[in-house]
Amino acid sequence: MSGTSDLQNQLKELQPSKDFFVGIDSDGCVFDTMELKHKECFCPNYIKYFGLQKVSRYAREVWEFVNLYSTGRGTNRFPALVNTVELLATRPEVKQWNVHIPDFTALKTWMEQESKLGNATLNAYAKQVNNPLINRVLDWSLRVNADIEEMVTGMDPFPYALDALREIHRKADAVVISQTPVDALTRDWKGSSVEKFIRTIAGQEHGTKTEHIALAAKGKYKADKILMIGDAPGDLRAAKNNGALFYPINPSHENESWKRLLEEGLDRFFTLNFAGSYEESLIDEFHSYLPENPSWKS
Ligand SMILES: [Mg+2]
Repeated sequence: MSGTSDLQNQLKELQPSKDFFVGIDSDGCVFDTMELKHKECFCPNYIKYFGLQKVSRYAREVWEFVNLYSTGRGTNRFPALVNTVELLATRPEVKQWNVHIPDFTALKTWMEQESKLGNATLNAYAKQVNNPLINRVLDWSLRVNADIEEMVTGMDPFPYALDALREIHRKADAVVISQTPVDALTRDWKGSSVEKFIRTIAGQEHGTKTEHIALAAKGKYKADKILMIGDAPGDLRAAKNNGALFYPINPSHENESWKRLLEEGLDRFFTLNFAGSYEESLIDEFHSYLPENPSWKS
């Protein structure tokens, strides 16, 4: 961890009010915002900012595979951008078109030294290094935020998420654990039907999801009383890095997943019958929804 920020200290200072802790991812988990943000905001802007117009159909296909329909789902935007561009560059169609794909080494250098991958830290770094690629990535990222602010409005939680969160709130301290900027998270949660069920919101400015759980829950609650709910492999990793339990919200089957959590998962968690074969079968099923390799390679 590269130093604990004020925001991270707020998580560290959270005191338990109940025996159980539940971390809840936001995008694509409580709110169906993933499709909208990626298809209408992230993807068109990466085509524009990184000169991929000539190969836009492949650029779009790769963006959606990496960010929505594979093990990369839910990755922070900066590593996701690098992964997408690198995968795009391997496609024969792109090589045929002789498209110049920018070199992302400078962004990788920043990502290696920074755990809080957000616009504020990138902006500070951009001023330090004055590197054209870093400046371009920052412009892209700011544009994406502006587009999301305009595009993503009037979203409601999945119907069964509302019921499940009400149940969670009875016995657990619930915290939003997300890699989305806090501003966007606040817009989604403030005034929503689920706002009253959560203690606080942790976003990308608070560090990684693994850090969020470590700061907000580890050592304060027993390990078998900490549960992470999410729709992406990064949510699973954040849980397991902290020895916590994981409940998956399966992509494209979100509401059914929340229904199952409400009807059986929560009871198992609160009676300490969640770990073991039950959790393993859920995780196996979750993996089947998110392939590692794209279909165009086979
Ligand atoms: Mg998510």
